Amino acid sequence: MSFSELGLSPKVLEAITAAGYTTPTAIQAEAIPHALQRKDVLGLAQTGSGKTAAFVLPMLSMLEKGRARARMPRTLILEPTRELAIQVEESFATLGKNHKLTVALLIGGVSFEPQAAKIDRGADVVIATPGRLLDHFERGRLLMTSIEMLVIDEADRMLDMGFIPDIERICKMLPFTRQTMFFSATMPPEIQRITAQFLHNPIRVETTVRGSTVDTITQRLVKAPHDPKAKRETLRALLRSQTTIKNGIVFANRKTTVALLEKSLKQHGFNAGALHGDMDQSARSKMLTAFRANEVSILIASDVAARGLDIPDVSHVFNFDVPIHSEDYVHRIGRTGRAGRDGAAFTLVTKEETKYLKAIEALIQKDIEWFEIEGVAAIENETPAESSKPQRRTRGAKPAQKPERTPERNLEQAPASPIVAVEAVEKAKPAEKHRPRNQPKPRPIEMADVDDDGFHAGNMPSFLMKR
Ligand code: AMP
Repeated sequence: MSFSELGLSPKVLEAITAAGYTTPTAIQAEAIPHALQRKDVLGLAQTGSGKTAAFVLPMLSMLEKGRARARMPRTLILEPTRELAIQVEESFATLGKNHKLTVALLIGGVSFEPQAAKIDRGADVVIATPGRLLDHFERGRLLMTSIEMLVIDEADRMLDMGFIPDIERICKMLPFTRQTMFFSATMPPEIQRITAQFLHNPIRVETTVRGSTVDTITQRLVKAPHDPKAKRETLRALLRSQTTIKNGIVFANRKTTVALLEKSLKQHGFNAGALHGDMDQSARSKMLTAFRANEVSILIASDVAARGLDIPDVSHVFNFDVPIHSEDYVHRIGRTGRAGRDGAAFTLVTKEETKYLKAIEALIQKDIEWFEIEGVAAIENETPAESSKPQRRTRGAKPAQKPERTPERNLEQAPASPIVAVEAVEKAKPAEKHRPRNQPKPRPIEMADVDDDGFHAGNMPSFLMKR
């Protein structure tokens, strides 16, 4: 199947070639021909499937006829987060480069007036988060009576974020005759209800079998103690044990755990950053940019904070907590092993979390193998009281775990990964040699800094270290 067989216009096809896309992804091949016939589409697809282009491309073809009138946009795309809305706008910039379209981005956290001014001039496309769209509507700056196509993206995330009442309100304001494209990675009952209410005889396209995981991802479980401090220590030992790690996302179930992990990993010398739900727009963008540019190697995130973000090429995913909703497991590990690349996903499991693990294994229809961190004695899933005893952790630890090793020495000896070895020589050594005089020599991380463990930064590859 090639893009030219899908029925897209020549201008769109030219932009696709310029973007470097050669073959349509499954969701694109299935959804685009129906969308071009003005049918409603219900797409079961997640981030990474190419679903954005699956609605942007037919929308571009459609917009070639007619033009926008003041305050009456022609198409509307609803996104749950500002980041996703920005990514869709970027797709329009790339794929719509041959179209002179006015694209208005209506998101919170930035000033209202320039957005309103753009709609005043006539917008072909409005990309919005639900709250900000309703704000514009309530202030009388926008009419929704000319919307020909509505896209609801990441509907299940909208549900998680409490946006469904807003979505229902918005849908009721739009013309009945509009075309709707609706995307969701999962179909909980509330989402099914919405699709039954607002889609008309939709064509259902599904690219991933519910709960399917990609074969290129090596999935492993690591036994972890219940005690939070000892569990963080297990995570650090695991991070250090991964010599092929390039960058990774550490997922935690709670915001508070995300914050704690960020502090803890940084204090233990890791080059880590966090993505919190409550960070403002510019802080989130800054963190993501740093992560994409490999300036931050370990990103700690909750499911809500990370959902929908386009972070390509993540070598490792670590689940600090077993996700409570098993489908979140599939989303989390889907951050690695993209586009045929290899990936690794490790999940720390305490005795208390075993029930969630069982649900995940039932969903993905396979048993995940256990992994023992080299040099760290296998942790029996003990009671909290036992697990906080300091001597328990280091039982059987190899000399390699001794804290007195210097980073340089450690790096020279770094095995396996060429990336680690090269970075070790390029970054760690000169940094040590040319340290400005007024900058104090980094003191070794002390056990009392955050967690009472026996390890410090000297045991990890340099590129994972704080710079
Ligand atoms: P999405 O699932 O829409 O977030 O897209 C994931 C990534 O795949 C984005 O970086 C797109 O630029 C890229 N992409 C989308 N469609 C294609 C395609 N047909 N060929 C290659 N890359 C694509």
